[in-house]
Amino acid sequence: MLADNEINRVLTVTAHPDDVDFGAAGSVAQFVDRGVEVTYLVVTDGDAGGNERTLDNSGMAELRRVEQTAAAKAVGVTDLRFLGYPDGRVESTLDLRRDIARVIRQVRPDVVITHHPDRNYQFVAPSHPDHRAVGGATLDAVYPDARNPYAFPELVKDEGLDAWTVREVWLTGGMTPNHWIDITDVIDRKLAALQSHVSQVAHVEGFTDFVKTRFASWAERAGFPEGHYAEGFQIVPTA
Ligand SMILES: [Zn+2]
Repeated sequence: MLADNEINRVLTVTAHPDDVDFGAAGSVAQFVDRGVEVTYLVVTDGDAGGNERTLDNSGMAELRRVEQTAAAKAVGVTDLRFLGYPDGRVESTLDLRRDIARVIRQVRPDVVITHHPDRNYQFVAPSHPDHRAVGGATLDAVYPDARNPYAFPELVKDEGLDAWTVREVWLTGGMTPNHWIDITDVIDRKLAALQSHVSQVAHVEGFTDFVKTRFASWAERAGFPEGHYAEGFQIVPTA
């Protein structure tokens, strides 16, 4: 596993606005506090989300980009990129792999954080098909696409983007996390990030308690003291 001082740049690749905030915003806040450059890449605009059941979701994509931008700011992230794929219809295609590999080569991260590509049979929420597709495409973009100059040669020829090897991938939402981050000192910032997604969470009664209970249970699983909160990841060495 990489030591803290070996991590200078982190790229998160998630399917929808708010995914990174549920899965990793506490860890992101701590990265930012240590001077790590963090970039968010969001594959869809979450245009199938929301609570207003009018079936006219025009404006939702734009709103969710604004909400994600505010959420990022709550944990100190200002570099956001959106791919604009349609919410609910993401597949792990060569186009998606190329689009993710492009951003990996632009950002040159040491660590990529993304969704676990396997279905979670203990807890259904992390296994949205878009999450699994994005997790799978991101792992494929990390290995082999981003590091192989002959994969998507147009990225070198037309855009001057040299190959890049990501050293670790941290997966969220899987059944077998092997690394826990104590986020107790930044739980309020994680909550602020989540609450920035007003269209998604404002109507949820007891949302703060729900979040705290969930991440306290992770801390318990991690063996942290009572009253602590944790985020869990499966770390995959990819160097
Ligand atoms: Zn999602």
